[in-house]
Amino acid sequence: MSEPVDKGTLFVISAPSGAGKTSLVAAMLERDPILCVSVSHTTRPMRPGEQDGVNYHFVERETFQSMIGQDDFLEHAEVFGNFYGTSQRWVEETLSQGKDVILEIDWQGAVQVRRLIPNCVGIFIVPPSPESLRARLTGRGQDADDVIERRLREAAEECSHALEFDYLVVNDQFDVALEELLSIVRTQRLSVERQEVRHADLLAALVSGGTAYTN
Ligand code: 5GP
Repeated sequence: MSEPVDKGTLFVISAPSGAGKTSLVAAMLERDPILCVSVSHTTRPMRPGEQDGVNYHFVERETFQSMIGQDDFLEHAEVFGNFYGTSQRWVEETLSQGKDVILEIDWQGAVQVRRLIPNCVGIFIVPPSPESLRARLTGRGQDADDVIERRLREAAEECSHALEFDYLVVNDQFDVALEELLSIVRTQRLSVERQEVRHADLLAALVSGGTAYTN
């Protein structure tokens, strides 16, 4: 029998834009050294302050299409007129190193990942009220009404998929939502599926009644 491999858990985190997902994920990474986030490929233009290879791998549409053709993506989707995709190889390699991986993707990507990796853990983040979502989406005050209305419609569409996920976190107070997210990650690490690999020797020694076990 081959040695059990210590594999990490794949967390899929989705949210309507304006729910604070990106800031929460950044805070999770700061607090938990075993967590990593996948950097997606996208065809959308870079926004001010973003860096290629950090926020996204920014690529041309032709490059994205040829990556689809080469089966480079674990999942990919068109969101708000741009293409986004998750590198299959990076996710597989990182999980096989025993690290936990977060995918910050939309509900369409989550559907694809759930089909391919059924034991992934889905988390959906929502804002505390429709008013707070509206306030966050209109906050900059520079956008036309039709742009704001479109964002609100898209947010409502994303929220209509919340119940397809395993966990729901309400981002009312940032610190509370952060603790809730971290506790989901820790709970997952304590599952028998993960612990039986990590503590295989201990369990074998306990079951056999042996005394030779060293930690
Ligand atoms: P933004 O362009 O504002 O950073 O992201 C727009 C939307 O695309 C967000 O809902 C985000 O979660 C989603 N997204 C980002 N990367 C990926 C990806 O690799 N795959 C999918 N399916 N969605 C993604």
